[in-house]
This record gives sequence, C-alpha cells and structure tokens, in this order.
Amino acid sequence: MSRLYRNGWIVTMDDAGTEHEDGWVLVDGAVVAAVGGGKPPEADEAVDLEGAVVTPGLVNTHHHLFQTLTRARAQEANLFDWLRELYPVWAGIDAEAEYAAARTGLAELALSGCATVFDHHYVFPDGRSGLIEAEVQAARELGVRIVASRGSMDLGESQGGLPPDSVVEELDAVLGDTERLAGELHESGPGALVQIAVAPCSPFSATGRLMEESAGLARRLGLPLHTHLAETVEEDAYCRELYGCSPVQYLEGLGWLAEDVWCAHCVHLSDGDVARFGETGAGVAHCPTSNLRLGAGVARVRDLLDANVRVGLGVDGTASNERGDLFLEVKQALLVARGRGGPKAMTAREALALGTRGGSALLRRDDLGTLEPGKQADLAVWRTDGLELGGAADLVAGLVLSGPHRVDRLVVAGEEVVRDGQLVRADETEIARAHRAQARRFSP
Ligand SMILES: [Zn+2]
Repeated sequence: MSRLYRNGWIVTMDDAGTEHEDGWVLVDGAVVAAVGGGKPPEADEAVDLEGAVVTPGLVNTHHHLFQTLTRARAQEANLFDWLRELYPVWAGIDAEAEYAAARTGLAELALSGCATVFDHHYVFPDGRSGLIEAEVQAARELGVRIVASRGSMDLGESQGGLPPDSVVEELDAVLGDTERLAGELHESGPGALVQIAVAPCSPFSATGRLMEESAGLARRLGLPLHTHLAETVEEDAYCRELYGCSPVQYLEGLGWLAEDVWCAHCVHLSDGDVARFGETGAGVAHCPTSNLRLGAGVARVRDLLDANVRVGLGVDGTASNERGDLFLEVKQALLVARGRGGPKAMTAREALALGTRGGSALLRRDDLGTLEPGKQADLAVWRTDGLELGGAADLVAGLVLSGPHRVDRLVVAGEEVVRDGQLVRADETEIARAHRAQARRFSP
C-alpha cells in the first residue's frame, strides 16, 4: 500500500542537502518510493501535512534505558562519584524493572522524533535473566527500531576497576550470552528492526582481555562494536596510571580503532587522537547534555568533523541527562560547538545532520538517516504553526534553534508510531504509572 505525505517542507538530508519547501514523500510499504517538490504523484492514501517540516527519523547512538529508574541522583557528582553512588542501586535491576524503564525511555525518545535507538546495557546482576529481551519487547510494542547491546563489566574494585565486584561478570559468561542473544535476536540487512551490538563498558570497568575478545566476537559475527571512551579528566588520569597511555592509545592497542567501532563521548582528545579517529574510521557518539550535566567538558566536534570522523548524537542515560529527548541534543550540539568555536562552528543543518545521517553512519545503517528512494520510511514530522516558530521564515533553522519539540508524527518502517503528538500503540499515562511503581524500588 502506498501513502503520500504532501504539503510539507521535506529535509532529505541527502549528500547534496536537498530540501523541498513545497514537497512530498511517497511511502510504499516500509520504504520511501519517491521524494520531490511541486505536483505530487497518486497514492492509495494521502496525508496533508499543512506545511510541517519533515526530517528523517532521528537516530540515538548512545543510551542506557535502565537509567530512567534513577534520575536526579548524585546531582553535583563527577562521573566516577556518580557511578560509585549508582552502581549499588543498579544492582537491583531485573527484567520487570528493565521493561518499565525501556518503555519509558523509548516512548520519550519516540516523542522527540527518534526512530532508532542504540541502547548500551551493561549491568547484569548475578542470577537475573531476560534484561535485553525485556527492552527488545518494549521496542517491538512501541514500534521503534532498537540496536540493543549486550554490554559488560569484568574489572571489579578488587582488580583495580571502578565498579564493585558484585556487579561484574566472568568473561566467558559475557561472551557466551552475547553470542546467544545475537543468535536469537539479531537481524541483518536493510530494514532490520532489532539488532544486537557488542559493548564492553569502559576502560575502567572492563579488562583488556574482555575488550579484545569482545572485538573478536563482534567481528566473527558481524555485529557493531561500541564502548565509552575519554569521557573525563579522571578517566584520562586512570588510564595513564594503570596502562601508561591515554584512553585512545589504550583502545588502539587493543585493536579497537576501526570502521566497525564507535565510542561514546570522546571529550578529552589530543590533536593526535582526533587524527587517529579520522585515519582509522572509528566514530564518535557525541552526548553534549550528559557531558555538561556531569561537568565532563565539551567534545571537539568541529575538529572531528573536519578530520572526516563519523559523528552522531546520543542522549546518554537519563540519570546523567534527565531529559530523554534526541532533538534537544541536536540543539545542544549546536550550542556547545558555538560555545567552543564561535558562531560559525556549526550550522543548524549540520546539527540536524548529526542527529540523523550522522547516527545512521555510526550504526553502519545505509538504509536509514536520509529521505531518498529505497531508504527505510522513517520520517519525523514537525508542526510549524506553534508559538515558538512564529516569525521564523527559515523553518528548519527555526526548529533546531527553538528546540526541543514534541514530534507531531513519527513513522518507522512505514508505520505510524506517533500521530498528533501521541503514541499510537501505547498509552503514555499508563507507561508513566507502571514506571513509577518500578522506580520506587530503587528510591533512596
Ligand atoms: Zn553512557
């Protein structure tokens, strides 16, 4: 069945930056059949967008859905102190809590225009099963795409790591469970709705051996590979003391700097580090709000882009960015880039590109991230008749600069997931109520 979305300002995000101010998108099944301006083609069904802006569905490249359960904690802490306070709390996670957390986090993201979510789950307390399955179920129910990682930690406090020994696992158990989940859940090829990634947590919570063997497993199974890197000055000092080099040098020594890898944060990079990312093809998930919230610093995104590094955006967990809104990160990326490098450091459209095609490039999903014939029909529709866009002739820049916004419609694989600013397949109030009941178990 074909559906025509007409009378919109279509931002294709293609290589040429094509926009159709009086445009349309023709969707056939799960894919975009055609995009253009002027007289639209015939279709089985037509939707009048009344001048709304249409962008590709946003792509979140770094998140921790479970953290919706523990917001607004350790409010003035840096990353290490924040983690030390929260690790023991997160040790209480089980499948029921994870399901409630994932529904909340994914619903918030969908309402911010996000069609694809990468989730980095790394807390697997002994004896709890079904955590990844719970978040995949939540994504399927809501109708969004998920790349769920089987994260891991195996470097406990007694071995010089940061997490308490009670939340770390044995290496063989991690690798075995990752392979099991990939076999049961991972879809490959265009249009995949559920994928599994391999993601040991960080240099200060995973051993070098786990990092190396995780990379080996990911490459053998063709899975994406991800970790946290160079987030804070404390992490830099930790790596230098323990490993005798910077976090980036450490990761490179483990065979990780490559095209199938992207790392979250990368705030503290030297000129040489930036160049190595560009030369090796490794990518960066930029998480500006979380970095500001934890006082970690501001990543060198302009320098990374100038070095041809793939850069996407991440909300990061909502315990370090209490707002799970990817459109907010688009605006924050612009603001912090300008805070670092002046008013020309990033345009509104460059910021929007980070949140769309930048994200799909990190996930190596060439079926997502732009509105072009043959791509997946993932569309975010933004109303332009509200108070905040009054007086803005350039509606695309106006949207970015006045964000965040509740998306009006979100289409994922041709299916409407959000319509009139409301979830189509679930009840937001019920999700929030169920989440509050679970979150109480984690209250101080
Ligand atoms: Zn993170």
